[in-house]
Amino acid sequence: MRSLFLLPLLLAFFSAPAQSPKTALLVRAGKLYDAEKNVFLTNQEILVVDDKIVAVGTKLKRPRNVRVIDLPSGTVTPGLIDAHTHLLLNQLFDEQAMAVASKIPATERLSKALAFADDYLRVGFTTARDLGNSGQFLDLELKNRLAKSGKPALELYGSGPILSPPGGQFGRLYPADSFLINQEYRVIRGADDAKTAVLEHIRRGVSVIKVCMNTDNRVLAPEEIKAIVATAHQNKIPVTAHATYDESARDAVLAGVDGIEHGYTLSDSTLSLMAQRGTYLVPTDPSWTQGRIRVAAVGMKGPEGEEYLKQALTGFHDRLQRAHKKGIWLVAGSDYYNNIPNLNRGAGAMDVLLSYQEANIPVTTVLQMATYNAAKVLGISEQTGVLKPGMKADLVVFDGDFETNFPQTLSKVKLVLKAGKEVNLTN
Ligand SMILES: [Zn+2]
Repeated sequence: MRSLFLLPLLLAFFSAPAQSPKTALLVRAGKLYDAEKNVFLTNQEILVVDDKIVAVGTKLKRPRNVRVIDLPSGTVTPGLIDAHTHLLLNQLFDEQAMAVASKIPATERLSKALAFADDYLRVGFTTARDLGNSGQFLDLELKNRLAKSGKPALELYGSGPILSPPGGQFGRLYPADSFLINQEYRVIRGADDAKTAVLEHIRRGVSVIKVCMNTDNRVLAPEEIKAIVATAHQNKIPVTAHATYDESARDAVLAGVDGIEHGYTLSDSTLSLMAQRGTYLVPTDPSWTQGRIRVAAVGMKGPEGEEYLKQALTGFHDRLQRAHKKGIWLVAGSDYYNNIPNLNRGAGAMDVLLSYQEANIPVTTVLQMATYNAAKVLGISEQTGVLKPGMKADLVVFDGDFETNFPQTLSKVKLVLKAGKEVNLTN
């Protein structure tokens, strides 16, 4: 009897299919950015098996048949995260640009966005959060297509249409274009409607609710924002607020949102409130170079343009330094949706990291904003954002030393791994 019971077990054991061989990869770099401790370490090795990091340290024990990538002059960081993008929008600089960009057919927007996502991956962003202006949930469609593409792809999280006051975020529209408001936004009409909107977004599969607190003179009513935050939080979904001015940011913080996007002019009192409540800030600032391109594109030339830019950036830098000193949770977000000739979408988005460094934020913190901090905000810090055992193997090796030469090194990507798979860096 006994042997009869054992036989099937033995058969199953011997006939079990051979386990598929694991792919082991050892990445060695001159410097490694430890996003949790916010420091650079020297001469570290990272052992990747299949899609995971299994060890980090010096002189690691190497499995047989391990492939070694040795980049002694490189800096390795976790895969970077852009917490504020609009991959479905590709906008020129002129008055009706947003309306024009929103009128592009959905299929075309999606195919462009897929190419933009590849651009992102090639410059070192392995994850992004898309925050609206993406038609009716085209961001979630894009997310699914990327996840099912069968190749290393940008990991995307989406907000769906932005919950906004009547009119959305458009400036003045031609009457015939007013249909775009309901195509691109979810206009909120009262507290009950706000709740309905949040629940519908959650059913669709959004990762975050984005609200527009202010646009021109239009604002969400206090009871509307309150209902949005309460409903989202009951369902464990965070809320982030487009708020460009101090007053609207303050209203949003008091209403309990998790984050402030832009916050170009934040008073010390609003920043203190954010520090107290743990509200994060996504400063979507341009660098000097990007700023000059944008100022020129809207027709401001010579000293006039330079003066305008100087005023704007001095203000942005000042509020970012004050936010940093107050210990606000800072998160990198490019808000890059621009169609600038000869500028790749990924490189355009990466520029935001340069803007933080230009504001005198330490390079370590700039990297933390785009890794550890962003991963926390996206709710994915158990999987990515730090190079340590057990994490998904999302990493980038830049050719150069971030500590001594940040601006140049930022554009020299040598290797990108997305979930352990090597990204083809040439398109
Ligand atoms: Zn934006």
